[in-house]
Amino acid sequence: MEITEVKIFLKDSPDKKLKAYATVTFDNAFVVRNIKVIEGSSGLFIAMPSRKVKQPCPKCNFKNESRSKYCNQCGSSLPVVSYPMSQEPTSAAQAEHKDIAHPITQSFREYLQKRVLDAYSQEKAKGTVDPGHSDLV
Ligand SMILES: [Zn+2]
Repeated sequence: MEITEVKIFLKDSPDKKLKAYATVTFDNAFVVRNIKVIEGSSGLFIAMPSRKVKQPCPKCNFKNESRSKYCNQCGSSLPVVSYPMSQEPTSAAQAEHKDIAHPITQSFREYLQKRVLDAYSQEKAKGTVDPGHSDLV
């Protein structure tokens, strides 16, 4: 699988860790939006688009944050979520956010990250900032 296009939307927020959003096209046929470029303590990395996992209350169906002990709506206790061994989350953050789309091999993850970060540094060199970017773009 080839990455055929990377679009970078820079975020003008020097104090924040989120540096840009990327839209990546694979094989001229498949697009993933909202890949984040994040500045971590050991350099730039990318984060795949993710969603918060919600846990519906068995009594009232209110969607609670995952790993809540009690329902925020009716106060009844929630069942403990059990994960299959292979998907056991290693941190609370991982438990609450599930990637919507992501590479499953280390080599493709590295290839994707390199392409996005290369495009990011090129875009940054141009100095164009798109403050109007939203999730809808
Ligand atoms: Zn409830």
